[in-house]
Amino acid sequence: MTLARIEPCLFLITKDNCHLYDSEALSLLWRKFVYFFLTFPEKVVPFLSRPSFPALLLPSGQHLFSSNAICRSVLWVVSWFSSAASASFVDSWDCLCLLLEEGERAVSEEEMEAATLTWRKGLTSCSLATERQHPLLPEEGKRNILLTSALPYVNNVPHLGNIIGCVLSADVFSRYGRLRGWNLLFVCGTDEYGTATENKAREEGLTPQQICDKYHAVHSSIYKWFQIDFDFFGRTTTEKQTEIAQDIFWRLHKNGFLVEDTVEQLRCENCQRFLADRFVEGTCPHCSYPEARGDQCDKCGRLINAVELREPQCKVCRQTPIIRSSKHLFLDLPKLERQLEQWLEKSTSTGDWTANAKQITRSWIRDGLKPRCITRDLQWGTPVPHPDFKEKVFYVWFDAPIGYLSITASYTNEWDKWWKNPQQVELYNFMAKDNVPFHSVVFPCSLLGAQDNYTLVNHLVATEYLNYEDTKFSKSRGVGVFGDMAKDTGIPSDVWRFYLLYVRPEGQDSAFSWADMALKNNSELLNNLGNFINRAGMFVTKFFEGCVPEMDLQREEKKLLAVVGWELQQYIQLMDKVRIRDALKHILNISRHGNQYIQVNEPWKKIKGGERRAGTVTGVSVNIACLLSVMLFPYMPLVSQTIRDQLNAPQSCIGTMLQGTGTFVCALSAGHRIGTVSPLFQKLETDQIEALKKRFGGQQVFDSSVSAPAAPGAEVKVVGGVDPEKAEHLLIQHQCLPPQGEKVRALKAQKAEKDVIAAEVSKLLELKKHLALAEGKNAAPAPQTGKKKK
Ligand SMILES: [Zn+2]
Ligand SMILES: [Zn+2]
Repeated sequence: MTLARIEPCLFLITKDNCHLYDSEALSLLWRKFVYFFLTFPEKVVPFLSRPSFPALLLPSGQHLFSSNAICRSVLWVVSWFSSAASASFVDSWDCLCLLLEEGERAVSEEEMEAATLTWRKGLTSCSLATERQHPLLPEEGKRNILLTSALPYVNNVPHLGNIIGCVLSADVFSRYGRLRGWNLLFVCGTDEYGTATENKAREEGLTPQQICDKYHAVHSSIYKWFQIDFDFFGRTTTEKQTEIAQDIFWRLHKNGFLVEDTVEQLRCENCQRFLADRFVEGTCPHCSYPEARGDQCDKCGRLINAVELREPQCKVCRQTPIIRSSKHLFLDLPKLERQLEQWLEKSTSTGDWTANAKQITRSWIRDGLKPRCITRDLQWGTPVPHPDFKEKVFYVWFDAPIGYLSITASYTNEWDKWWKNPQQVELYNFMAKDNVPFHSVVFPCSLLGAQDNYTLVNHLVATEYLNYEDTKFSKSRGVGVFGDMAKDTGIPSDVWRFYLLYVRPEGQDSAFSWADMALKNNSELLNNLGNFINRAGMFVTKFFEGCVPEMDLQREEKKLLAVVGWELQQYIQLMDKVRIRDALKHILNISRHGNQYIQVNEPWKKIKGGERRAGTVTGVSVNIACLLSVMLFPYMPLVSQTIRDQLNAPQSCIGTMLQGTGTFVCALSAGHRIGTVSPLFQKLETDQIEALKKRFGGQQVFDSSVSAPAAPGAEVKVVGGVDPEKAEHLLIQHQCLPPQGEKVRALKAQKAEKDVIAAEVSKLLELKKHLALAEGKNAAPAPQTGKKKK
């Protein structure tokens, strides 16, 4: 089968830029294609199996297919898989092209010369201020960035999905931004008001305030362990919150954006209280999903008014609540719609909004805005100052985002220099996708209506969901790793950060998997990155008495400098666009190039013959290690520091390398004395991982959730513990999974009903699943296959 030999690389051309897709996103899609073409061989485009391809040769040396037969075929295949993920691929891109990389990227003479010149520039003296001077305020002539991550709800211990979606992603970007020399303020805090807190307090026999104090500390310590470097981590239960929320309320009132209405509310007679939305569950009136929440449906994403739920249940006692009416205030969203749209058009076209954020926002506007109730019959909340509503508090969706402002106000009295300064400040909001509408529609409407020159979101960065071993995180079922447990695993926080960022749900949902975590730790961190950095340092120590040797750059080095420089540029371009996961791959590419360079040049042999080459190879390698330490800083701050300590790297290397489009300079020049070198990473052993998996309730990977044909990718996923490449081979080997495959093909040929075919395809998938199960049973994380350490 010739398909298997093609190294796939999908190039997606968008309106504004090109995205090179590698990694899981691609391999998943690619596997779908392989599967698809095996099932429906008549759909194979002829030149897929031909050795040469009609294509456009790009200056980069890569081939690009235009919207030709192959693209049409790809589009056809993608649309055939009706899953939302695939659909969004097509939805957001004008054209889908297949690109085949032929060997390595060609490097031009000019690139080599330029890279060599840059290298010789050395470090610039202007180093970044290492200590931040608080309070940080916007500065004239600087890029002023205000960065928030969604406020975690106080009474839940955050799980890994929460951590990657909000605080960790924001942390990586803020660390990166500071390296770039931006004047950046990163604020976050716990969202503390609402019934959930009241309820928790009742459960634990404490007051709501005590609950908030207790859990605020839990959150703080978790984020501290994950090295989330907030400028300020505050909370919403403050005087400032009351002051600012009430001010915004009165402004909205004065400007005529609040309307009064009577609402029907669900009340549980058994529990003797009105039920907040998150305490009601029922069937979604739009899509019939049985576990819809009182405010939103997790399946179709639509907002729900709790009384619209079919068969509502009190989540606490499972009784059916009754409907009672009460007078409330509403934010008049329809009246603000035009203003909102004008602003959205500007913000989404000039800022970096993730595709899902734009899409969710668009669908909201398309469905039409309705007035939204901003008050609630509760006690634990910011009091409504209006005399007619004095028994009520603000509803959390209205109150919580104001927390960003009040938390900043708790940080500095001059908070309005950040929040009422759209001319000078760029606002980045980080969140998971379920939070998008509140940040793109509802909260901006509150601020637009208040008319006080507020800073509105310029860049909205939303992740998809992170699953746990192909299921959902669930506190009640004890499934998944929660923030407070991560440190008990004995796995360093940097490794957690690395893996979560490596599988960051960027562009589509992804999954945390123990086996994959071990695999990535052992292959990427230990064998690739750690091995390279350690070898480079060890050569200096062993062969050159700890001093960086003289370097005499040959053509090979110049080429390497150009290649590394190019990877650095890609990293910067992606990071500037908050493509955190994609940028990480370029760090790993650099150490791969480095390992290859060492392997080819064998300095340990050349040193014996007294050759100067050994010194050059060692010196260039250790300088690449230094560059890697800087690039790693946003992802793995401790490892980054450790490398710089080991290399005794000058502080100014941090400020130099990420300037402009990327500046790979010789930071450790000949004669520089390095420190003590030691290994950076430890192997994760199979039994250790198995034990952790058991402990955290990772479901068996071969569960029954595979539903074909909507998600043929799942067929490969069932061999979760196995190397994906192996899974792909299995798939290909067993393409003729004989009788069932024939049957499907025959039905296709007869142009049978779609449903009939689907049912047979489903059976085929089931067969393949069993086969995969049989083959993958003894699967363990791939053994270390890396080069021998010298
Ligand atoms: Zn109840
Ligand atoms: Zn629904």
